[in-house]
Amino acid sequence: MFDKILIANRGEIALRVVRACREMGIASVAVHSTADSDAMHVRMADESVCIGPPPSVDSYLSMSAIIAACEITGAQAIHPGYGFLSENAGFVQMVEDHGIAFIGPSAEHIRIMGDKITAKDTAKALGIPVVPGSEGGVPDVASAYRVAAEIGYPVIIKATAGGGGRGMKVAENEDGLEIAFRTARTEAKAAFGNDEVYIEKYLQRPRHIEIQVFGDGKGRAVHLGERDCSLQRRHQKVLEEAPGPAISPEQRARIGGICADAMSKLGYRGAGTIEFLFEDGEFYFIEMNTRLQVEHPITEAIFGVDLVRQQIRVAAGEEMEFRQEDLEIRGHSIEVRINAEKLPNFTPSPGKITQYHAPGGLGVRMDAAIYDGYRIPPYYDSLIGKLIVHGRDRHEALARLDRALGELIVDGVDTTVPLFRALLENPDIQRGDYSIHWLERWLAKLADPNS
Ligand code: ADP
Repeated sequence: MFDKILIANRGEIALRVVRACREMGIASVAVHSTADSDAMHVRMADESVCIGPPPSVDSYLSMSAIIAACEITGAQAIHPGYGFLSENAGFVQMVEDHGIAFIGPSAEHIRIMGDKITAKDTAKALGIPVVPGSEGGVPDVASAYRVAAEIGYPVIIKATAGGGGRGMKVAENEDGLEIAFRTARTEAKAAFGNDEVYIEKYLQRPRHIEIQVFGDGKGRAVHLGERDCSLQRRHQKVLEEAPGPAISPEQRARIGGICADAMSKLGYRGAGTIEFLFEDGEFYFIEMNTRLQVEHPITEAIFGVDLVRQQIRVAAGEEMEFRQEDLEIRGHSIEVRINAEKLPNFTPSPGKITQYHAPGGLGVRMDAAIYDGYRIPPYYDSLIGKLIVHGRDRHEALARLDRALGELIVDGVDTTVPLFRALLENPDIQRGDYSIHWLERWLAKLADPNS
């Protein structure tokens, strides 16, 4: 096992990894920009290294600075968290070339899944059902018309190199296709420096269901059920729950089994998430994330496992501590993402937190990296914490979430907490009856009741 791990991230996820390290008796090294000298992950880690100025490109994305920090501190492994360098195959290669272990999958698997067309082809070859669409990239408007006519309207045009919900355009019919195609290409070029796009059938009211997978890198792999992440704004998740309110045990076992088999065939190492759209009882693969997800704690809650601990174990060549038959779902879990944002427009609200009180009690977990007097820097993501609740069933989890939100105090900045309190009062949310379009429509109605 490693003696010392460097965490190439910040905020709540860096703290999450520090906690796992401490329980395993491993020393932790935090890295930080000059804007984060007072950050909680720096205070809680055993050691810290300043790796550059505030902009992420010069600090949290600086590969050479991070590798130098490993060499200075003698860290034997790097945990990348999520975002930043977590899905950068070139970084993984560089880390391994320096004799440092990467806590995550191989560079090869990251590369395959990072390109959406290759990912879809790989998924198909591994027996995973995919959204009907073009065979690979669509080079010009004429081909786009041909593909769309074949699969049927509406269609969605997506960037091969896409991520974060950018470079996606919907065409309702033939009239809208050319403009959607050209706009998606222009956006893809601007955002990712690659204008290749592909076309998929646009599903009308699917749910976003993702399967948590875990492999030991030697051919053994399991699934840990699904998370329903349908409540999204601008393709960004806002609230997640597990198990999915619309998924039956048979559906879970079927799709989970397919995903676990696929990961076993790949020889996948560590945590991964296979994302699907789910409509009328069918699953359609959209992409795979080769890292820990923001919403991993809801899976930890219902299975009673520590996914970061398992990631560290398999990266060190040890066995995972569970087999498929050991994994049994207990109760229901919900996570809400608390962002420093001002409603109704979700404008970033950085600044000083004058008072912070975390909720507690049975079944409540608060993963945050803030404290009284902490100043949220304006340079990074607006996520300041995640509130995760666990109950015996969905009903209890909802009541517990409401209770915990009532105890939480974050003063000095605006947060998304009022959104969750309003959502909990909505009958659709109480019933678990929502698709990926529900939240945007609900927000539009709030803004303009006549819409
Ligand atoms: P990104 O990598 O940019 O997040 P994804 O492929 O994961 O892109 O898609 C993000 C979200 O976009 C999905 O969760 C879903 O809400 C929507 N979406 C993507 N593909 C389709 C589709 N074929 N039909 C309907 N909605 C889609």
